[in-house]
Amino acid sequence: MAQYNAIKKDYPDAFLFYRIGDFYELFYDDAIKGAQLLELTLTARNKSAAEPIPMCGVPHHAAQNYIDILVDKGYKVAICEQMEDPRKAVGMVKREVIQLITPGTIMEQKAATAKSNNYLTALVEVKPQQYGFAYTDLSTGELKVSRLTGTEAVINEVMSLHTKELVANHQVSAKFLTVLSKLGILISYQDQVDARAELSFVTQRLTDLTEVKVVEQLLMYLTVTQKRSLAHLQIAEEYEPSQFLKMDHYAKNNLELTTSIRTGQKSGTLLWLLDETKTAMGGRLLKQWLDRPLINAPQIKQRQNKVASLMDHFFERSSLQDELTKVYDLERLAGRVAFGSVNGRDLIQLKSSLLQIPKLKAILTDINDGTFDDVIEHLDPVNDVADLITAAINDDPPISVKDGNVIKSHYNKQLDDYRDAMKNGKQWIAQLQAKERKATGIHNLKIGFNHVFGYYIEVTKANLAALPEDRYQRKQTLTNAERFSTPELKEKEALILEAQEKSTALEYDLFIKIREQVKAQIHRLQRLAKGVAALDVLQSFAVISENYHYVRPTLTKGHDLEITAGRHPVVEKVLGEQKYIPNDVQMKKDNTILLITGPNMSGKSTYMRQLALIVIMAQIGCFIPATKAKLPVFDQIFTRIGATDDLISGQSTFMVEMMESNTALAHATENSLILFDEIGRGTATYDGMALAQAIIEYLHDHVHAKTLFSTHYHELTALATDLPQLRNVHVGAVEKNGALVFLHKMLPGAADKSYGIHVAKLAGLPDNLLKRATTILTDLEKRSQGASITTAASQEPATEKIAEQSPTLKEKKTTALEKQEKPEADQQLALFDYQPK
Ligand code: ADP
Repeated sequence: MAQYNAIKKDYPDAFLFYRIGDFYELFYDDAIKGAQLLELTLTARNKSAAEPIPMCGVPHHAAQNYIDILVDKGYKVAICEQMEDPRKAVGMVKREVIQLITPGTIMEQKAATAKSNNYLTALVEVKPQQYGFAYTDLSTGELKVSRLTGTEAVINEVMSLHTKELVANHQVSAKFLTVLSKLGILISYQDQVDARAELSFVTQRLTDLTEVKVVEQLLMYLTVTQKRSLAHLQIAEEYEPSQFLKMDHYAKNNLELTTSIRTGQKSGTLLWLLDETKTAMGGRLLKQWLDRPLINAPQIKQRQNKVASLMDHFFERSSLQDELTKVYDLERLAGRVAFGSVNGRDLIQLKSSLLQIPKLKAILTDINDGTFDDVIEHLDPVNDVADLITAAINDDPPISVKDGNVIKSHYNKQLDDYRDAMKNGKQWIAQLQAKERKATGIHNLKIGFNHVFGYYIEVTKANLAALPEDRYQRKQTLTNAERFSTPELKEKEALILEAQEKSTALEYDLFIKIREQVKAQIHRLQRLAKGVAALDVLQSFAVISENYHYVRPTLTKGHDLEITAGRHPVVEKVLGEQKYIPNDVQMKKDNTILLITGPNMSGKSTYMRQLALIVIMAQIGCFIPATKAKLPVFDQIFTRIGATDDLISGQSTFMVEMMESNTALAHATENSLILFDEIGRGTATYDGMALAQAIIEYLHDHVHAKTLFSTHYHELTALATDLPQLRNVHVGAVEKNGALVFLHKMLPGAADKSYGIHVAKLAGLPDNLLKRATTILTDLEKRSQGASITTAASQEPATEKIAEQSPTLKEKKTTALEKQEKPEADQQLALFDYQPK
């Protein structure tokens, strides 16, 4: 316990898994809490003592599951091993912590998480509000670093990366760290930093001191916790969030890019739709591309060219897919090589993956249109490593690297000799049986082997009398038989066992050497992995684009946005292509705002999201769900869709709505896209309407971003008269035998009615209630017509424009006007004949 206490002192915030024989034991508070979290039986050491020590344990071979559970729950686990063979130890067995596993450093090997990254992040504050920020995935070695200004930027990064752990120094304000930990992020501290020579390659390309500092802090934390080679870490790469299409985490959540709002799962998201990747590396890269779409038109076009080329080459594409399926996770295999956790089977996977590479290369070379030159360049088959593994490692090695049978024959002369000795010895023993039978005349005499007694000669009790006394020494007595040894059998046995022991030890040594040789090539393997991953994502885009009939969007330099027959890719996939009603988006340079009206449930927010998803798909290089499209390259997307809970500060929905609106107003440029869904509905009607109008006017006059603004305030549609860059559109709906039929079709002009009561009827509210609502509505409408002038006059100056006329008067006027203007639209309405669901 003294040894335990001495070690535990260094790991106060971790569960200490203390190895005793075949078990890892937990003591004291670790045991009490651990027993509860892991559903283990809590026992005690020194039960009879005055103060027994609480204790629980897990068998060492099952430990991984328990460790995963604790780390998944956000705890740290320190693994303390016996550092010497207890049989050979003098006095107390030496013990040491060999690894501290934390939420940000767990080396996931589960199939379920193969396609996602687990990022550990690090933060330093160099000046107030000036941060150095870095992140790494320990299993793949990816390492990126940036400088961020303001806490909001940091929150956006950590939320987008879904980091579970952040390593901070004590300069970062405690208040901010509390905010971060409220987001479910474990905060670890690393203050002392010493630049490790063997890891200096990681920071070699960094010139900025803040960036060097934060990366060194991260490296230090990894060194301290992992206590092993980190040779697979990649050279730190600088990035700037502004190099990519900017979306804050609210927008990413709202648009359900990678996680569904309702389930928190991948299903039902854009990632889910787009993921036809065949490798885990490709799956992870796709997720990264979705998180950071491009803003550089030539880069986007390069990806588009590749997708187009793969769509044109059907046969090549399908053989690419076949070959990619056989490529294992090169990045994580490389990580395990460096980490020292690789086994024979992993190396065989590595080899068979490498053997695919020349095939991939040949297929791309066949396409021969130059589009894939940069990918081909990445596809180095790392022949030396493949050859080494082919020569050295058995094709079907066991899981353990310590029990032999890993290394092939003819790889090492000494090993072959040991194996020959074993084989010859075994042959000699096999012949011994015949010899002994002859010598003794006992026909059922047997030679056998077991781990406790070694080789033996077995004679049944009935035949014992026939055995000459002299040579045979008794080893073991069974019910029906006796087991013996002879001096010459003993001698051979010693030779065989020695050869066996030496051969397994040599095999392990050879394996470690091979591992080191592979390790020296890790950076080549990682570069290859990047090429394979990109190729995989691009083929996935090609497959999706073909299956769902997507088209290549033209990217324009100007501000014209034209989409013909656009669809919401995910809703379309769920509903089926037949059922989805395509819609155009026409926003020329001089049209920045679309004001969208229409009943609830008619498809307003689907239309808005559809545009954002199309933009994102275009900017990651994929084709898009439309028949034709011309798009500018956007720099940022802002959304205010639906009610999001504010996890960070517990603000009210309306407050969040105003904060998000403010972010958009402050940061949007004429190259941005803004989606505002029913801004202002979170407060009193006039209040909300006034704010909505003022926001629209501000966007119109000052921001010039492409904006889709949906609203229930029909009064706002009148703005089209005063604001030349604003256009009204509405979603068609018709009444049929008193029931409401949604057309899901965007039509020019404003909607003429709200249909709220119809929607309530669809939802099945009681008839009496609906009747009562209709009465109240009629009443309200009458009253507001009578009182309109006074209502208007009593408004605050902020609502000036609205107050110019009574809302309802103005609405009546515009709808009448709009109606005259859209005979076409009405005709279109008549063409549809949908029944309500
Ligand atoms: P709103 O924002 O107007 O309340 P939504 O955009 O949420 O309405 O759409 C409601 C439902 O209508 C969606 O869940 C979808 O099933 C269906 N829908 C929306 N747009 C379309 C469309 N273009 N074609 C077919 N169905 C649609």
